[in-house]
Amino acid sequence: MPDVPPPPPASNTKVLIAGAGVAGLTLAILLDKAGIAYEIFERQEHIKPQGSAAALGFNIMPLMEQLGLLDELKSISKVVDGTTLYKEDMEVIREIRLRDNRALTGYDTLVTSRPEFHALLTSRVSKDKIHMNKHIVGFTQDIDSVTISCADGTIYTGDILVGADGAYSSVRKILYRQMKDEGILPASDEVELLSHYLSILGTTRPLDPKNYEGLEDDDSHSDAVIGNERGLSWRYFTIPHNRVCWRIDVQAKDMDPALYENWLNAEYNVFDVTQLPEEWKHHKLPIMGELKDLFDSSPKESISKVVLEDRVYETWKHGRTVLIGDAAHKVADRDIRKKENWMDGKFNGRAMNAILDGVVLANLLYEMSTPSQKNINKALDEFYTERFPSVTKELNATQQMLTVLAGKTWLDSAARFVLLKLVPKYFKEKSQEYTLQYRPQALFLPSIESRGSVPNTPQRPSRKYTALQKNQAAATAAAAAVTAAAAAGIAASEVNSDSSIS
Ligand SMILES: Cc1cc2nc3c(=O)[nH]c(=O)nc-3n(C[C@H](O)[C@H](O)[C@H](O)COP(=O)(O)OP(=O)(O)OC[C@H]3O[C@@H](n4cnc5c(N)ncnc54)[C@H](O)[C@@H]3O)c2cc1C
Repeated sequence: MPDVPPPPPASNTKVLIAGAGVAGLTLAILLDKAGIAYEIFERQEHIKPQGSAAALGFNIMPLMEQLGLLDELKSISKVVDGTTLYKEDMEVIREIRLRDNRALTGYDTLVTSRPEFHALLTSRVSKDKIHMNKHIVGFTQDIDSVTISCADGTIYTGDILVGADGAYSSVRKILYRQMKDEGILPASDEVELLSHYLSILGTTRPLDPKNYEGLEDDDSHSDAVIGNERGLSWRYFTIPHNRVCWRIDVQAKDMDPALYENWLNAEYNVFDVTQLPEEWKHHKLPIMGELKDLFDSSPKESISKVVLEDRVYETWKHGRTVLIGDAAHKVADRDIRKKENWMDGKFNGRAMNAILDGVVLANLLYEMSTPSQKNINKALDEFYTERFPSVTKELNATQQMLTVLAGKTWLDSAARFVLLKLVPKYFKEKSQEYTLQYRPQALFLPSIESRGSVPNTPQRPSRKYTALQKNQAAATAAAAAVTAAAAAGIAASEVNSDSSIS
């Protein structure tokens, strides 16, 4: 754990956070430490225990350590040492090892279940700051403030609205409508979301380790299979307590249109696996068994489906409103695409990007002297300048790689052979300079020293925090001087009283 930071300065900014997902909760934890007032508004009455794996790479680990979350995170995770990509007949296409990353960055890639990671973040936010059952349906903003309205008729006012309300963000929709009316919404952001992938995901109960290979191993078994059926793949991670986080991805354009129509719903909703084609249930797993085993041993209410699409919106901010996490970008979420990330030696899933958004934004809000529109513009511009190029770069890389990995033509196969077998080093080297170094920390907390051989990207220190540290050091020195003087006084009086006795 880092040293005790100086107490945060009094802040006159109030942040309204839409959504208690990974992005909203991470930002909340950070704002709390920065001494900035905030409230979270979450539309659900109770958090759904849904979702599969949350894979968390080294980019966020120094931050987790700063926040005192790393040890607990490790206790609910397994280390991802690498992944193996298979064909449907279980022929290995490629193995990708991540062990080097520990030496390079000082941290492992960890995998846990999304609900458990979510619960860990939730446990660090004061309950009275999270308002459940608050579905944001509208907001207005002007030069002085922003006001949200919820479906239950309540309204709340603050200085900044953070749309952390996920892939189908209401805040984004409302903001874009306002900007369109003002004639300032870029044409690219007017286009509706086109969904290309459907995912079905779940987490099993503890399985019998006798029936599956490596379930009890300390490291996670992370495998992905590219199915013979066009656009179909499945993958899993083993996680603590002999459980498996699994996922099936289907390319929508390759599906039976009837099935696709039924699934065309943006939310993570409970899904009944009996709807799946019978033959899918018998697809093999590299750890033994078949997909059906995973379906049968997952609690029904935990199996969900979602329609996914990689997308980076161009507009992330306007006035007093900013979008973070999936509300602004959804990149590198699917199994197959993540192969490319592993090849690059990185692992930036959507949760990772949401966390990185949170820390960059919190640093900038901390530095703001007052929540004037001018200061907010400056902070949000800097946020966008740092984060937009980074997620766009990931999107481009994953899209290029998807064609190579998922393509079914002979040309795709040839390209796959060349890229996976012959030149993986190229991908590794290509991304190292950016990916390995980018490990941003909270600038208002004691920093964590770089552990690996590749140093962190330097961050401009916070002027506010440096001044506080100086004051704290001066106060500590003054207190020490007083104590020393008092001790010296006692010693002198003791000498005097001794001499008076003699
Ligand atoms: C139930 C669920 C299951 C998921 N499972 C997986 C998974 O297995 N694998 C994976 O890679 N990703 C999963 N995700 C997505 C993953 O959590 C995110 O991609 C990532 O963590 C980025 O988080 P986020 O906070 O930006 O978005 P999210 O995690 O989607 O969080 C957004 C939050 O905002 C709330 N919200 C939405 N609209 C409003 C509104 N109008 N007013 C108030 N609140 C609102 C939502 O209820 C949600 O809690 C899941 C998301 C959800 C909600």
